[in-house]
Amino acid sequence: MSFVVENNGEKQLASLLTEFLGTMELGSWVGGGLLPGNGSEISLINPATGNVLMTYRDAGEQVVTMAAESAVDAQKEWWAMTASTRARLMWQCSAKVREVLEPLAQLESLSAGKPIRDCRVEVAKVADMFEYYAGWCDKLVGQVIPVPTSHHNYTRHEPYGVVTQITPWNAPVFTAGWQIAPAICAGNAVLLKPSELTPLSSTVLAKLIEAAGVPRGLVNVINGLGHTTGAAAISHSATRKVIFVGSPKTGGLIAAAAQKVIPCVLELGGKSANIVFDDADVDRAVIGAQAAVFAAAGQSCVSGSRLLVQRSIYEQVVDRLASASQKIALGLPWLEDTMVGPINNLSQFHHVNSLVSDGISEGADVVAGGKRGQIEGGEAGYFYQPTVLANVKNSMRVAQEEIFGPVVSAIPFDDEEDAIAIANDSRFGLAGAVWTRDVGRAHRMAEQVKAGTFWVNSYKAINVMSPFGGFGESGYGRSSGYEGLLEYTQTKSIWVETGKEAVAQFGYSIE
Ligand code: NAD
Repeated sequence: MSFVVENNGEKQLASLLTEFLGTMELGSWVGGGLLPGNGSEISLINPATGNVLMTYRDAGEQVVTMAAESAVDAQKEWWAMTASTRARLMWQCSAKVREVLEPLAQLESLSAGKPIRDCRVEVAKVADMFEYYAGWCDKLVGQVIPVPTSHHNYTRHEPYGVVTQITPWNAPVFTAGWQIAPAICAGNAVLLKPSELTPLSSTVLAKLIEAAGVPRGLVNVINGLGHTTGAAAISHSATRKVIFVGSPKTGGLIAAAAQKVIPCVLELGGKSANIVFDDADVDRAVIGAQAAVFAAAGQSCVSGSRLLVQRSIYEQVVDRLASASQKIALGLPWLEDTMVGPINNLSQFHHVNSLVSDGISEGADVVAGGKRGQIEGGEAGYFYQPTVLANVKNSMRVAQEEIFGPVVSAIPFDDEEDAIAIANDSRFGLAGAVWTRDVGRAHRMAEQVKAGTFWVNSYKAINVMSPFGGFGESGYGRSSGYEGLLEYTQTKSIWVETGKEAVAQFGYSIE
């Protein structure tokens, strides 16, 4: 499969956008059409070249209001349909995504700077998400509770109505599908505000969903800045729940700033510990350590950015990891062989660089990478070499702060207790892993490490069927699976008196 990108890629982007949206002008997808914003101008930068790909305008409050109004109307229409009709339409959403898998992956790769091979996988996963939740539409049943009175008591899972979803730039279309599919499965309408840095694939996804036959306005994508458009969506009276995926700093602001009583789900960052014991299969562990931190150039919330290695094999593992890291294909995201692409944006690039520099000044050794990557055709792009830092102490800033880049900090430990203490010495708790052949130890570690997801002799296995979310400052609430679906419902308890006679109630009678 070929994906030819010339120079900066504006021409390819324009042709992909025209194919999908019928125009090269980006607005917000509201009520079945594109609405231009009237706020400040936002530039989309190609992360591989550092040049502007296109510009668009911040949506602003007026567009948010129109999106909220269409969402309210569409939600009523959607919820009035039978569950099996909603299921059939969700299957159609999946089919629409599969029809355009390759061009949608190209759009994502070009605008987000992600390797094309990863984008294909992520778009296919979006289709899987709609299929999975299509299956839940007519199986989301309540319970009958055997209350000790003559009442028939049962529960219903009802939608919130309109939910606002705010998403980050690291996996735009994946995150959009991940949240939209359970939201509409449960009967909600959506206002999605993607990152201002990566709005394109989510906008296209909304159009595809509508083309599947769901009511116009069921899924609205409002494009713009967080503190203007995002804040307006959260505070709009139609929003009954907020699902935020992003940095801990913004997540804290959003939860604290909720000026009305609406629930939130926060999916935030991490500093996950990937723990290798001396009884592990070292080949597997070294492969796993690379996949854990270099995939997506480390811009993954579950990135295994702290590699804890038992002291007796520390040098061996670090040497092998360092030598494997130097062979990883860092390159232009649209090339078939590229494994690691650029960092998504300049400010994130500086953040990665600054944490590595801090680590070095605090005593860490660079055993691989540690510098900007020099890429032909991407000389001004935000490439960072896959980097291994050795002799890191867990108290260092590079081991405590989320780096969100292709950098792993290798930290030695002595025994199980030491490994658990280091792993849990973090304000985060998103994920973790252990590499060992001792099955008892594997389960002890799984129980003791504070994290929402834990892998044994594996890393980064994630599926829409399984719940996902954080402990500690990695957030609260769950996405994916049945638990992720329940986040989009509110339970109603219904009591029906079935007794034959009028009986006294709480001492009241007709006498
Ligand atoms: P970010 O917090 O800067 O931005 C996320 C979103 O919030 C963007 O759409 C942004 O426009 C919006 N926003 C910013 N300020 C806002 C405000 N005042 N009101 C409303 N919306 C506002 O995060 P980022 O830099 O885009 O993404 C990287 C972060 O996302 C990392 O910390 C990563 O770990 C996290 N992340 C977490 C998960 C997870 O599931 N736990 C998944 C992916 C990414």
